[in-house]
Amino acid sequence: MATALNADLHSHSTRSDGTLDPATLARRAHANGVQLWALTDHDEVGGLAAAAVAAAECGLRFVAGVEISVSVAAQTVHIVGLGVDPDNVTLLDGLQQVRSGRELRARRMAAELEREAGVAGAYAGACRHAGNPALISRTHFARYLVEQRICSSTHEVFTRFLTPGKPGYVDHAWATLRDALAWIDAAGGHAVIAHPARYPFTSTEEWALFEGFKAMGGAAVEVVTASHGAAEMRKYAAIATEFGLRASRGSDFHSPNESRCDLGRLPPLPAGVAPVWELFD
Ligand code: AMP
Ligand code: MN
Ligand code: MN
Ligand code: MN
Repeated sequence: MATALNADLHSHSTRSDGTLDPATLARRAHANGVQLWALTDHDEVGGLAAAAVAAAECGLRFVAGVEISVSVAAQTVHIVGLGVDPDNVTLLDGLQQVRSGRELRARRMAAELEREAGVAGAYAGACRHAGNPALISRTHFARYLVEQRICSSTHEVFTRFLTPGKPGYVDHAWATLRDALAWIDAAGGHAVIAHPARYPFTSTEEWALFEGFKAMGGAAVEVVTASHGAAEMRKYAAIATEFGLRASRGSDFHSPNESRCDLGRLPPLPAGVAPVWELFD
């Protein structure tokens, strides 16, 4: 398959922090011209069965995915697994372990928001926005702060709250990179470093991430994604080539009201990279 294929291999449903259910997402992807689509909920594969059925109904090729939260050098990194078996016990156990820390983290975030910013009721409020309580995330807190008119957009929330140094941010230990790659591998999937430009690494730390990821069997880098500008797409295309990694393309779509890029509405992969979807042929 050519690099020009309209593949969208990164998106979220109500099973994590998206606002559309898996079937609605499948239909939206198809309507937007997507030819190969992956649902990649955070730390959760519970939406994949419904997504696969809905994709088949509209004749859309589907890839079962997941986005695993990982801690690397005291930062959170997201690793997308593509082509995973959603019934694999190693993967399911690993994801369950990652999810299990979220509730206590959310309670601590709410306590911090109250203490440092006078925001009341954030735990219950975020829970109301979380379709899947086990997956309570910063996005659900952001929606609560918008609902309470403390901020006018979720984007504004992440500039004022919930990020390192701001009220409501709580350090958290997610999976190790080695474990996440082992779970994806056990489930027959291919691991992708998601949105690499979003991590606040020094160039040395970033290099170490790519080197470790490649050495542990990682397959690809998300080169084209909503949070990358043209220069970042070029940069990560070059890094992918340098490390012998494939390139992926995914909108990271969460919501029609919040996401800056709709499903399938992304630039093509830059010329010269090896598309990750060749692995699915
Ligand atoms: P969590 O897994 O609870 O740490 O939540 C992470 C989620 O918060 C990401 O998957 C995004 O959906 C959202 N998020 C993080 N940073 C931002 C940001 N700067 N702007 C908008 N959404 C963000
Ligand atoms: Mn998210
Ligand atoms: Mn992510
Ligand atoms: Mn994502």
